[in-house]
Amino acid sequence: MSTEEIPRCSAKGCRQAAVWVLAWNNPKLHTPERRKTWLACEEHKEHLSDFLDLRGFLKDVVPFADWSE
Ligand SMILES: [Zn+2]
Repeated sequence: MSTEEIPRCSAKGCRQAAVWVLAWNNPKLHTPERRKTWLACEEHKEHLSDFLDLRGFLKDVVPFADWSE
């Protein structure tokens, strides 16, 4: 694979490059300041962020270009 370096969308089966970073936290598993991240392409941003938001996990949606750990 020559494309290993390209960050990919986290949606199952999706091979597109990530454009968004979804920062989330599960209060049952993580301390409040901890951030887990999913990557999303334009197509899956809404689906993935809705999934996290419904569970109350979603903290931030940041353009991939602006993301810094
Ligand atoms: Zn995707």
